[in-house]
Amino acid sequence: MDVYHIIQFPDPRLEVVGQPVEGVDDNIKAIVKKMFATLYAADQCAALAATQLDIPWPDGIPRRITVIDFSAEKDQPLCLINPVLSAPEGQTKLKEGCMSVKMLTAAVTRAETIQVDALDQDGQAISFRADGFMAKCIQHEVDHLDGRLFIDHLSPLRRKMLVKKLFKKNMK
Ligand code: ZN
Repeated sequence: MDVYHIIQFPDPRLEVVGQPVEGVDDNIKAIVKKMFATLYAADQCAALAATQLDIPWPDGIPRRITVIDFSAEKDQPLCLINPVLSAPEGQTKLKEGCMSVKMLTAAVTRAETIQVDALDQDGQAISFRADGFMAKCIQHEVDHLDGRLFIDHLSPLRRKMLVKKLFKKNMK
């Protein structure tokens, strides 16, 4: 199946804030399907946000969609449309990477558990509490939908150092 191109840092499109999906119609369903195909085709990919993919939106505005599956068998797809996070509890600081910032990892402080309210790929409302890797993953993806990358959580100095390292690696 055809897949989307994953936009790479420092492309300014990664800073665009996604807008809510107005209705989960056939067009949105087809996009979700292709997002999952992109996720499964990419090596070591746990999740993707619509704002990091070159989806040809008719109005040029990316929508708030994320697809997640980090199961070993790749058989536990989770699609969140218009996800809203609330009631954060606890704190973790774990290493993160990103399909749009390849070859860089950094520890990012996130809530340990969060409440998630969203629509699924059929437009049905879903509501659950996420913890562990899932909670971290969802917070990373919602950041993407808000035009934020994991490296934006670092101190300006640390971010600068990492970005410098990234460009050195890319030039080799
Ligand atoms: Zn990412």
